[in-house]
Amino acid sequence: MIYKRSSALFAEAQKVIPGGVNSPVRAFKAVGGDPIFVKKASGAYLYDEDDNRLIDYINSWGPMILGHAFPPVVNAVIEKTKQGTSFGMPTEIETTIAQLAVSMVPNIDKIRFVNSGTEACMSAVRLARGFTGKDKIIKFAGCYHGHSDSFLIQAGSGAVTFGSPNSPGVTQGTAKDTLLANYNDLDNVKELIASNKGEIACIIIEPVAGNMGCIPPVEGFLEGLRTLCDEHDILLVFDEVMTGFRLAKGGVQELLGVAADIVTFGKVIGGGLPVGAFAARKEIMDYLAPVGPVYQAGTLSGNPLAMAAGLAMLTELNDNPEIFSSLTAKTEYLHQGMHQALVDHGVVHTINRIGSMISVHFAEGKVIDFASAAEGNNDTFKKFFHGMLAEGIYIAPSAFESWFITDALSYKDLDETIAAVQKVAKTL
Ligand SMILES: *Cc1c(COP(=O)(O)O)cnc(C)c1O
Repeated sequence: MIYKRSSALFAEAQKVIPGGVNSPVRAFKAVGGDPIFVKKASGAYLYDEDDNRLIDYINSWGPMILGHAFPPVVNAVIEKTKQGTSFGMPTEIETTIAQLAVSMVPNIDKIRFVNSGTEACMSAVRLARGFTGKDKIIKFAGCYHGHSDSFLIQAGSGAVTFGSPNSPGVTQGTAKDTLLANYNDLDNVKELIASNKGEIACIIIEPVAGNMGCIPPVEGFLEGLRTLCDEHDILLVFDEVMTGFRLAKGGVQELLGVAADIVTFGKVIGGGLPVGAFAARKEIMDYLAPVGPVYQAGTLSGNPLAMAAGLAMLTELNDNPEIFSSLTAKTEYLHQGMHQALVDHGVVHTINRIGSMISVHFAEGKVIDFASAAEGNNDTFKKFFHGMLAEGIYIAPSAFESWFITDALSYKDLDETIAAVQKVAKTL
């Protein structure tokens, strides 16, 4: 494939934008080469500035669960735009989408909308601290909760890809209140709670991790966290920015039957516009301003365009629950096909999958936490990435990312992808 125009655009971008990108994961730093500039997208396909067609397995890092330029979302946004794009005053649609979200997700009574997943997680932790009157939080190595200071400690995906697990600019003062545990390691969490008795406000976790590849929780892990939180007056925060409205209508809480105290959302909930949200039962949410003492605000929060896109997306998912089984079936089909192709060519690998999230690790053993994810062979991944790209298949340019399956993918697309894996596996 030719990337002449993409390369030229990237050269221009680098002169005025750091690294030429507005979010580091878009750069190809981990795999080498220049990022591809997109012109447009439709359904399961991206069309780049050189008119190459790519089958997309990133889908804007999750939001496009029903494909790009999904007509109900596009139309809702066009219609809303004609009536003004932001007022900084309440609108009816905010209540409509809040009612729908609360009806779809278990264990939440109220929800507040913000503009990104980062904002949602940052606000959720402030709320947890305000509500419990405690300072410290526990997070897990390899989990990503956005780029706010207290989370940039072993933060998975982007941060790990670029080899800066702890970003300069995060003060010691902030870092000391974030305790780090190993994913899927309940004993480690118990030790941290014991050595910080009475000081922990919340445990924040991706209940299915998606920022070190896809790593589902081992049996009993989330249940164990729930029990520990109940015993020690700690709030359990599920970061469902990636999994919310993706793995089930009600996210991981519904899929795996474990209740969280606070849940955060992003990605799918905005249908491709900048939206995040956090939600909890009434007494926790009413701790927020203007009713409660914990301050949180946003000029463009809940703006009509974002709410129109989100409402159209959630309505579609709520009205057509078979989408989730269709997504799971497609992901399983892809899993089997890729596994067979890699086995046929003797490529050592582990594929993790749950619902419509899947990741291929070029590692020998099970991948259950950050350490085992990091054992994957990055040179093999680089070859795999560029090989797939040459076949017109776009996967994330990092071994630490999950793939996001969209329902717009046809079985023909999946077969084309599996055929590409067959071809590329020969070269690994
Ligand atoms: C993407 C992501 C975030 C951050 O969301 P942004 O909208 O990029 O700020 C937080 N948590 C998880 C689990 C994510 O996948």
